[in-house]
Amino acid sequence: MSLLGPVEVRALAEKLDLRPTKKLGQNFVIDGGTVRRIVRVAGVAPHDVAIEIGPGLGSLTLALLPEVARVVAVEIDPVLAAQLPLTVAERAPEAADRLTVVRADALRIGPQDLGAAPTVLVANLPYNVSVPVVLHLLETLPSLRRGLVMVQAEVADRLAATPGSKIYGIPSVKAAWYADVRRAGPVGRNVFWPAPNVDSGLVSLVRRDPPVTTASREEVFAAVDAAFAQRRKTLRAALASWAGTAAAAEEALVAAGVDPSARGEQLGVEDFARIAEHRRAAAP
Ligand code: SAM
Repeated sequence: MSLLGPVEVRALAEKLDLRPTKKLGQNFVIDGGTVRRIVRVAGVAPHDVAIEIGPGLGSLTLALLPEVARVVAVEIDPVLAAQLPLTVAERAPEAADRLTVVRADALRIGPQDLGAAPTVLVANLPYNVSVPVVLHLLETLPSLRRGLVMVQAEVADRLAATPGSKIYGIPSVKAAWYADVRRAGPVGRNVFWPAPNVDSGLVSLVRRDPPVTTASREEVFAAVDAAFAQRRKTLRAALASWAGTAAAAEEALVAAGVDPSARGEQLGVEDFARIAEHRRAAAP
């Protein structure tokens, strides 16, 4: 098995007459050390079924295949999806029958599309949809236990942020509903072709049980969206239209043991779960 370097990536791009698009976040890794590092930090095991979103030209796929039982690769670009099995057949023929390529939008896939139940997410994500993709997969694929994703550095910070920090926000709270999230190291922009104009970062996700609450996930997330839509306001004010009135918001906050003059950025996901639960209990 041989990994793709700059020469191979350019040759493949030329063969496919590929013009990488920003819209699809098409920045391909040209450095074998980086994909090996991603696979190592992901801590995959031989029995794992890995789901890779956006395999592109196959840089990461080729590093993953020797380490897991199966790779399910979901690619939206039809040209890249058609090429991937050919690249793997040529460079890692012994692993070719352990690759499933699904030509689809990752934001629309569910377990029925994959042919196997993924246990681990390993991906260099398309940057414009990285947060929605992570949340969608954690929501729709209950078999997924862990993940290691490469995202824009700022998004890595946001996903892993904890209450009280400036960058703590909707992605941080929603990701924490599903997983313990940690930054797992920086990645420079020069490992890509074409090089993006931002640095990247690795993020590790380990599935956790969601907070115990009688409120649904949708109800909790609606409270989170409302609190951060006006993040400089107190929760009493920010949650007024969500709860119906400022008085109803105050009542739910006090019942949940949260100071109504606090701000959303100070609350953990458990706090939002309690607030939604008390609002639900009080709703007519
Ligand atoms: N994994 C490859 C690598 O490391 O070289 C490519 C990563 S590139 C940052 C992102 C890839 O995601 C591209 O191949 C792009 O076509 C694909 N992509 C973009 N949006 C997608 C979506 N909604 N669903 C699935 N794949 C998508």
